[in-house]
Amino acid sequence: MLKDLPTLIEPKQLALETRHLKGKIALAQMTRLPGNLCDVQGDAQIDWLFAQDEKGRPTIQGDMQAPLSVLCQRCLQPMRWVCNTKVALIILTDEQIENEKLPVGYEAITLTSTQVSLIRLVEDELILALPIVTMHKKCPSNEFQLAESLLENNTYKNNPFNVLSELKIKK
Ligand SMILES: [Zn+2]
Repeated sequence: MLKDLPTLIEPKQLALETRHLKGKIALAQMTRLPGNLCDVQGDAQIDWLFAQDEKGRPTIQGDMQAPLSVLCQRCLQPMRWVCNTKVALIILTDEQIENEKLPVGYEAITLTSTQVSLIRLVEDELILALPIVTMHKKCPSNEFQLAESLLENNTYKNNPFNVLSELKIKK
């Protein structure tokens, strides 16, 4: 069972201590992500390692998963999309961002204070991981439409009202 994670964390301190955060955060606790979702049931699960790179800069690396209910852009029905993404962040100051080279594959973030909201950090990563367009591989309603158009060729056979018209002719 995954445990609930702390609300507030000190990323630099966690990195100094090489700490591992593994657990879940309820999507309902987030404030901006729900605007992109059809409902906020479920949790984001993270497995993040806070450590330092060879230059002593704090890093966050690991995996994140979250089953999300998003709107299909084609049929406008809710669909389940599982976010499954790797996270590789390096915590830099504004000055470092301007002057230092980023390690390959890392994204730089800056912290506004020593202590930050873990929920917000996870939420930011989830928002970044959201696809621009979400669509069913096969929309349920399109399947229905397709089935209907296939039937059109056989309308006479399959339409129960045709039986009635035959009866009328026989009269
Ligand atoms: Zn769809």
